[in-house]
Amino acid sequence: MLLNSYKITRTLPCLADPMKIRVIADISDEIHEVFPYLNATLKGCIYNHPALTLTIKKDGKLLTLHAYHITLAKIEDEKEAEEILRWLKDLINETYEKQNQIEPNYSMAAELKALDIFRLLPGTNCKKCEEPSCLAFAVKLVGRDIEIIKCDPLFSEKYQEKRNVLFDLLHAAGFEVPSEFLNP
Ligand code: SF4
Repeated sequence: MLLNSYKITRTLPCLADPMKIRVIADISDEIHEVFPYLNATLKGCIYNHPALTLTIKKDGKLLTLHAYHITLAKIEDEKEAEEILRWLKDLINETYEKQNQIEPNYSMAAELKALDIFRLLPGTNCKKCEEPSCLAFAVKLVGRDIEIIKCDPLFSEKYQEKRNVLFDLLHAAGFEVPSEFLNP
């Protein structure tokens, strides 16, 4: 068994959807060695091998596995978080046990969707980035035609929580993110 246990340590409002929550769980064991095997067997993962993160999209939710913790976004309540964590624990352990039968995949696989980014931008369409709207900015960002630092309002205290989630997502997908703004 690779992962023995997990514990929910933080529950925060989900900024992508105010009716939902974001959950952070600490885990008992280092799990990153299973990431390339999960990346090979699950559809639509975003794998960042150097950063040791794997984001799984499941039923509209974003589940990001780090070497030492797991974050869940767009979650209904703690009961649902527990169900998802139980599912992830089983998945991680089953995949780890079957790793000899799986060809590991170290590629980044799925790309970020502009809409995933748009939901985490300020959404004011202020044009300070010299784009006509936040959605236009998100489309350019996904295409790597503009950098996240051009969205000046995002760096204000008001958008700190949105910024944290967005930067985690961008970092996991291999985008340049100012290191001083990354979560530990
Ligand atoms: S600067 Fe940021 S908030 Fe303003 S339009 Fe551009 S992306 Fe939207």
